[in-house]
Amino acid sequence: MRGRLSRRWGLPRLSVRFRILTTILLVTAIGMTVAGATAFFVQRERTLQDLDDRLLSRVEAARFVVTGESATGSGDGEGTVVARADGTVPATTADALEAVLARVVPGRNESSLGIVGGEPTFVPGVELAIHLERDPAFVSRVVDEVSDGSVRLGTALSTEGHIRYIAAPVTVAGDVPGIYVTAVDITAELDELYAAFTTYTVVALGALVAVGLVGWFVAGRLLSPLRQLRAAASRITASERHERIPVLGRDDVSDLTETVNDMLDRLDAAMTGQRQLLDDVRHELKTPITIVRGHLELLDAANVDEVESTRTLAIDELDRMTGLVDDIESLAETTGVPSSAVAVEVARFTADVFAKAEGYVDHEWTLAESAATTVLIDPARITQAWLQLVDNAAKYSPAGSMIELGSSELDGAVEFWVRDAGPGIPADARERIFERFGRVDAGRGIRGSGLGLAIVTAIAAAHGGRVSLETGEHGSRFGIVVPGGPSAPTRAIDSHSTTGKVAP
Ligand code: ADP
Repeated sequence: MRGRLSRRWGLPRLSVRFRILTTILLVTAIGMTVAGATAFFVQRERTLQDLDDRLLSRVEAARFVVTGESATGSGDGEGTVVARADGTVPATTADALEAVLARVVPGRNESSLGIVGGEPTFVPGVELAIHLERDPAFVSRVVDEVSDGSVRLGTALSTEGHIRYIAAPVTVAGDVPGIYVTAVDITAELDELYAAFTTYTVVALGALVAVGLVGWFVAGRLLSPLRQLRAAASRITASERHERIPVLGRDDVSDLTETVNDMLDRLDAAMTGQRQLLDDVRHELKTPITIVRGHLELLDAANVDEVESTRTLAIDELDRMTGLVDDIESLAETTGVPSSAVAVEVARFTADVFAKAEGYVDHEWTLAESAATTVLIDPARITQAWLQLVDNAAKYSPAGSMIELGSSELDGAVEFWVRDAGPGIPADARERIFERFGRVDAGRGIRGSGLGLAIVTAIAAAHGGRVSLETGEHGSRFGIVVPGGPSAPTRAIDSHSTTGKVAP
């Protein structure tokens, strides 16, 4: 159905293996990306926070150099570094900044600058990664920013690169204002992080390839029984239908294989049965056709008596063929069809069938026993089967002989039976008569299709039951046994009663 739909909508036909693999890879890739990206951004935030802490500690160090205090105790405004008024150290802004730049040494990827009177004046005496003094725009920006006397922490895209900086005004009473600037190269600081995550990406891609290869192999192995199943199913045709699929392992796929094998068994049996039926029907129809044809061929049309007798014979044979066709139809309707069961009161049902049996007026009928229980059956079908047994009993036992009919409870089952005083069934025919067209001595000269008991068997089987037979030299007892009905005592019936009423 799916295949048809895909074809109808023009969707590409993708194998299950491919779809399993794509799903696994997609989920793995999404998982790795989310984990990697989260770790990257958390780490980046932490690095940037560390940079700010470092820059603030530089200003604290500068403050210590200028004021001799480690906190902003002598702060002027927003943390401005102010020299002590006692004039001990330093005497000028330039002195203060020179001392700071000489003593507060910038770390890796860092640089500092001392600005006096708006001009970059001092740089540290060590090798620097960046030169802030080379970017006049940055210098004037910093001068502007701290003009209100506050310490500024910011990010700038200078000619020296992407930097994070801190600028603190340094004031010595009575001198020009100064600024201490220290900055760190963000790109260089984050380079390690980028390198680590480049490695992560390479490893993740490698892992994805490994997952893909293992997934492809495992999916292929798991699906191989399905491929075998498909190959075997396409090999099995009407003529090559005996092949079965090997059951490998013990899992869902092996269960499926067993189910398919069971289905093939049933199909095989159904096809064999069908072929057998066709053979049987062909064989059975051949006889009347041959008889009628033979008589018509040899018929002397001028002989009125012969025409009359041939006409009777032909009609007789055609009637037999009609009966045969009716029985085949009945058998086809019954075989394999599950019965639509209803709860039936067995005693009442027995009385109804008994009343019908009494229509065979050539015999003396007796309702011998009636089970006082209910049973789940399809009453129309069981009546059909029971009347078939009645018909056989009437057909094969001498006219005027007594035939008993009854229903009994067996262990967890109910039996509908008919007993006659006929010739009984010889031992070698007791199985054959239940097969299609199985008869004793060509029906002992009595007309029949040989399908009656096959129909009874099919109806019993559709109820989950069976046909029973007790027979000897004189008489036979045929029964239809269907499961169900709680065990309950049966009541004997007046053996000569013909009304089916329960005896007191
Ligand atoms: P048919 O009666 O059309 O031949 P059935 O399937 O009903 O076919 O019966 C099969 C054969 O079993 C009959 O030909 C007959 O020889 C034998 N048979 C069936 N019922 C009885 C019976 N009650 N007594 C003796 N023989 C019977």
